[in-house]
Amino acid sequence: MFHYSDREKLKRLRVYSLLDLALITPNSYENNFISKRLSIGEIHTIEADVNFVEEKGNMLKIELFSTSLNIRLQALIFHPKIFHKLQFQIGNRLFLKGKIEFNYGKYQITQPKIIYNINTLEIKYKYPQISSKEISTLIKKYITIENLIPFLGSNLALYIYKIHFPTIEEANYFIKNGFNKKFLYALKYTEILNYIYKLKSKRRDFEAMEVLTSTEKEFIKNLPFELTNDQKDALGDIKRDLSSKKAKKRIIMGDVGSGKTILILSAVTIAYPHKSILMTPTTILANQIYQEAKKFLSKEIRVAFVTNKSKEEDLTQYDFIIGTHALLYRKLPKAPLIMVDEQHKFGTNQREAIKKLVSGGGEKRPHFLQFSATPIPRTLSMINSFVVNYSFLKETPFKREIETKIINRDNFSDLINHIKREIELKHQIIIVYPLVEESESINYSSIEEGKEYWLKRFKNVYITSGKDKNKERVIEEFRDKGDILLATTVVEVGISLPKLSTIVIVAPERLGLASLHQLRGRVSRNGLKGYCFLFTKYKSKRLEEFIKTKDGFEVAELDLKYRDSGDLFLGDMQSGKRFKYFDFVEDRRIIEEIESKIVS
Ligand code: ADP
Ligand code: MG
Repeated sequence: MFHYSDREKLKRLRVYSLLDLALITPNSYENNFISKRLSIGEIHTIEADVNFVEEKGNMLKIELFSTSLNIRLQALIFHPKIFHKLQFQIGNRLFLKGKIEFNYGKYQITQPKIIYNINTLEIKYKYPQISSKEISTLIKKYITIENLIPFLGSNLALYIYKIHFPTIEEANYFIKNGFNKKFLYALKYTEILNYIYKLKSKRRDFEAMEVLTSTEKEFIKNLPFELTNDQKDALGDIKRDLSSKKAKKRIIMGDVGSGKTILILSAVTIAYPHKSILMTPTTILANQIYQEAKKFLSKEIRVAFVTNKSKEEDLTQYDFIIGTHALLYRKLPKAPLIMVDEQHKFGTNQREAIKKLVSGGGEKRPHFLQFSATPIPRTLSMINSFVVNYSFLKETPFKREIETKIINRDNFSDLINHIKREIELKHQIIIVYPLVEESESINYSSIEEGKEYWLKRFKNVYITSGKDKNKERVIEEFRDKGDILLATTVVEVGISLPKLSTIVIVAPERLGLASLHQLRGRVSRNGLKGYCFLFTKYKSKRLEEFIKTKDGFEVAELDLKYRDSGDLFLGDMQSGKRFKYFDFVEDRRIIEEIESKIVS
């Protein structure tokens, strides 16, 4: 596409595709054509003779006669520079540009610019490290309607072209009003299309290590419950993926409690006698799934459980290996199915390691299933679905009733009464404090300061913080014997606490809604009536909207709406990259349009 001699300049502009270049939009349009008519309040370019100059304090007052408009007018220059004084000398003829107004019975042009390249339309690009002129040259060379049409179609191509090559009238319009809806639409479309093309170009197809087609029917039949429709659909998707000759990638996304574990186990069954590997972010979670695997899977499937504490052994004897990232340090057998649970909880390093696990071993790759309990906004999953497939679990098998309430100091005694009642019912409570450093800056008490209060008034109070090395053990003990757990955000990871009925979140405004939703999802796991109290000192529209919804997908949309305060997870794209024109909330239909045009 680009001539190699331009590559270096284009690289400085970070331009790698034609659409990248098309999206380098002008910073300003300068119409330097001499104005033929006078219209008050507008910017004009005029030719004028200097008749009289007077310096008054900080101001240069100049009497002019415009030969082009045939009027007398006064120019005012505030804070004149030396060059102004040199140019505005009686008898000089100049080209000036500025807004002409009519004040106190005379025409005035305020702070006019002196123009040298008269009768041109100047289109200025402003980017660091490369001049406007150099950019112009590149744009002229490559941004042609013919070049744009294959990407954008003739209609949008023309709009994009006109942004770089407007007529005088169009430029005047841009100067006055900016880009109107149609131009903006073209820019948004180009921007997101460009992004999607880039995503797609990174994608490579690999052959699957194995075609996995065993049946899961027996396994499903023996479950003590019937699958939800969403689970059935997702299972269908998984079956199709695993039986493909191509290595497939899929994200199964569903709120806490939507029943993802059963899908993991189904996939293992479909893969068997071939091997499967599952990685989880915590030991507790790995153990939970291990227990469920033991309970539900056919006995002939040999299941291993690997943590950093488990002893070295030959893992090749197992059919299903479950473990934390400790797995990455073990010698693993070749497995044509790799899965990751609570995908969103892994750090960047771990993600890299997982990638290696999936991409190791040459030209043939395993199928890769990721399970996530953090729904992302629809727009984002639509964009990502150009490279990875999604299955959504929007329903939960049993209705969970969780009441979410915003509370403050005034409701504190009600809260205490509630907690006492719940403890009498043998239910459990978690109180989530801000991190110590945070609580100083946001003016709430820390877990250290708060614990006195709870320890004095209640028995069986457990305490753990994010830094706590023993947090998993503390949580297990709490699960078995505790009434109240004081924690920072450790409880975020999917540990099942069947007796937990209440979660109190101190200073919820510091957290993204997705995180709040995750925390809320800890309670009412087994059909208990659940309560989520948001203890805050502030009024917040965001929180008020949050308490009205229980649906993780809606929460993701809300997080997007309040994105500045949220901790929205937008994947690789978002680390730094935001779109200049495309808006995640408003422009979803553009993606629908692109989807309908370039179905992959
Ligand atoms: P997730 O991992 O999506 O948060 P789990 O897989 O842990 O959810 O499932 C939550 C609970 O619901 C588990 O006790 C599981 O056995 C149960 N469960 C899963 N699917 C169903 C279903 N279709 N009907 C009833 N209970 C189910
Ligand atoms: Mg789960």
